[in-house]
Amino acid sequence: MRKRLIAGNWKMNMMMGEAGELARGVVDRAGGLAENIDIILAPPYTALGAVGDVLRETGIMLAAQNVFWEESGAFTGEISPGMLADAGCSWVIIGHSERRQILLETDEMVRMKIGASLGAGLKVIVCVGETLEERAEGRAIKTVDAQVVKALTGVDIDDPEDLVIAYEPIWAIGTGHHATPAEAEFVQSAIREIAGNILGDSAARIRIVYGGSVNEENIRDLLAEPDIDGALVGGASLRAESMASIIEAAGAK
Ligand code: PEP
Repeated sequence: MRKRLIAGNWKMNMMMGEAGELARGVVDRAGGLAENIDIILAPPYTALGAVGDVLRETGIMLAAQNVFWEESGAFTGEISPGMLADAGCSWVIIGHSERRQILLETDEMVRMKIGASLGAGLKVIVCVGETLEERAEGRAIKTVDAQVVKALTGVDIDDPEDLVIAYEPIWAIGTGHHATPAEAEFVQSAIREIAGNILGDSAARIRIVYGGSVNEENIRDLLAEPDIDGALVGGASLRAESMASIIEAAGAK
């Protein structure tokens, strides 16, 4: 039985004070469920300290939204996996579509970031997903297949629970149009099969979460599908009440 996981991606939002307050709101409302499911908050870099202070001893885990693949050196503006661990992170989100599209992050960069992060003891949420155009042309599975294969091939994964794949169809991110549970399950079961071709039996233990306009109304139906092990939540994670409701729905089963 895979442990469910709910992660909040705050993106480029929240000053330090606001971030601490939001984290406190989530801890107060849903912190008790951290024993049952993995709960992760991913504030911007500047608020990692403030949020980490609030999360200490709560069981809710801290994530960064990005990382670089080298450990140190002349890489102006970048942050290494070791630095994230030093800042209190146990998780990192890698390959979010906003980074792939806006910052031109490639599959090869994603693969290097995953390898470096796992090597430094961080756990990874790697994002994959197709554009609206790819979907309309019937290429959703092909796109996701290529992303998963390029992300995972050659990467050492000691514990399958350290790697989470977030299926985030780009057309569903921040749009209010989430994939139906059946649509998400169709792709996520394919992702498990693709991961199985690379990782063998341990793919059965990898968690695959859905992301894209998840909210307190749609989370239950999404979680009813066998290959949806949780959610990566953007907009709805910026309000303590909605994030807590999503966590409660995931912790209830
Ligand atoms: C995300 O950015 O990872 C995301 C899923 O955003 P939203 O929930 O706002 O669609």
